[in-house]
Amino acid sequence: MTENKYDVLIIGGGISGLSALHFLKQNDSSLKIKLYEADTRLGGTIGTDNIEGFSLDWGPNGFLDREPLTLELVEQLGITDSLERANDNVSNRFILRAGKLRPVPMSPPKFMTSSILPISGRLRVMMEPFAKTRPEGIDESIYDFVKRRIGVQAADYLVQPMVSGVYGGVADRLSLQSCFPIMREMEDDYGSLFKAMIAKAKQAKAKKKKSGSPSGPGGWLTSFKGGLYSVIEQFQKNYNDDISCGMRAKSITKQENSYHVTFEDGTEVTTKHVILATPTYKAADLVTSFSTSLAQSLNSIPYAPISVVCLGYKKDDIQHKLDGFGFLVPKKENLKILGSIWTSSIFENRAPDGMVQFRTMIGGDGDHESINLSDAELIKTIEHDLDSIVGINGKPVLTKIYRWAKGIPQFKIGHAEIMLKLEKELKRQGNVYLTGNAYYGISLNDCIKQSFKIANQITQ
Ligand SMILES: Cc1cc2nc3c(=O)[nH]c(=O)nc-3n(C[C@H](O)[C@H](O)[C@H](O)COP(=O)(O)OP(=O)(O)OC[C@H]3O[C@@H](n4cnc5c(N)ncnc54)[C@H](O)[C@@H]3O)c2cc1C
Repeated sequence: MTENKYDVLIIGGGISGLSALHFLKQNDSSLKIKLYEADTRLGGTIGTDNIEGFSLDWGPNGFLDREPLTLELVEQLGITDSLERANDNVSNRFILRAGKLRPVPMSPPKFMTSSILPISGRLRVMMEPFAKTRPEGIDESIYDFVKRRIGVQAADYLVQPMVSGVYGGVADRLSLQSCFPIMREMEDDYGSLFKAMIAKAKQAKAKKKKSGSPSGPGGWLTSFKGGLYSVIEQFQKNYNDDISCGMRAKSITKQENSYHVTFEDGTEVTTKHVILATPTYKAADLVTSFSTSLAQSLNSIPYAPISVVCLGYKKDDIQHKLDGFGFLVPKKENLKILGSIWTSSIFENRAPDGMVQFRTMIGGDGDHESINLSDAELIKTIEHDLDSIVGINGKPVLTKIYRWAKGIPQFKIGHAEIMLKLEKELKRQGNVYLTGNAYYGISLNDCIKQSFKIANQITQ
């Protein structure tokens, strides 16, 4: 048993824990900090495998370059040169309707002439400025919001697939306010999403004129040459002495002005501040000895299961040109898969010459069963669904499955209430902090933002 004293202890070495370590070091290099990771490797859900010339991302495959803080972090880590911007064809996205891939139109005139929705659905979208106002005092679901503003067909065919693609979620269970606060603000500030979009497009145009920035308001999908894991390797390189892997925190007890953390191997550590950068259900186990209220709130944030299934094929075996980002599948189409990303069309060197890579998602909050399928059943299901959409003549030359049983936190109706309770209890306890994708946003950008915020709170 060893006893160490730290200013700050970080538990969890995914992107959230690692970026918290980085920002703390930037703010005050004299702090005595240690990051403990349970696994023998860093990265959490971020990982890249290189198999037979295919480069396969385990979980996240990129981030949107709209968040200056993420780009600053990359710059400070010294790996800006390794950034890889998605190919230009990434704006060709597809949605399945009536069994056919329909291009997602990128402008209002294109929308009106597209086949993405039947004409009645497209006309209903145009009625958006005349939508009913939001019912007062409720945490409206994403589905209800979209149905109210642009109609049921758009909710089913445009928004539900997007929600399952990003959140692995079901649109009528998720809170608009917690998942897409910007939509709610647009409605509040402009009374209409259309008016807000026009105003924002004008602002963006003016800004672009000033800065010459290439990224649109939504940002551009970006990764690193060779896959997303490069960023984790760089954290490891820069902060090796401050990190211990293979160290699972077992319990935390609160003392008068400090926290005492015990690890599975018997190591004991005392720290003034403790940052929990683990999934919520792991953080709940750790805090339960000093705050059952905190543990309860943490346990009330549910997760959806998701499997990422990477399949490699000979290019000649695929009938579709795969000229774009990939496609999403609305629930109404009655297929098992949520969507598929054409990884080798998006980034360079993700498949050997003459081969392609599909990265297909299956599961989500609407399907808690697929995660339990055997490897053979999963692959068969995906081959069947992909074949019906893009036409496949041969068998995959490579298959790799990444299962995430508790994959993506769900910001359900009432999430904002949970967060208020959590914040109140954190304040009452003092010197314990939460970061990760389960609180204010699920993306890598959101994780980094949350870690930046708490690093500043600690060093202010
Ligand atoms: C399949 C999938 C695809 C995604 N795709 C994208 C994407 O393309 N773009 C995007 O922006 N976001 C994406 N996300 C969301 C988000 O980016 C990731 O969830 C993000 O990597 C989460 O990072 P994290 O550090 O908060 O948590 P994690 O990556 O889960 O890391 C938590 C770490 O804590 C460790 N830990 C747990 N318990 C203990 C303990 N007791 N002691 C010590 N350590 C412990 C774990 O081992 C783990 O390493 C995706 C998520 C999933 C699951």
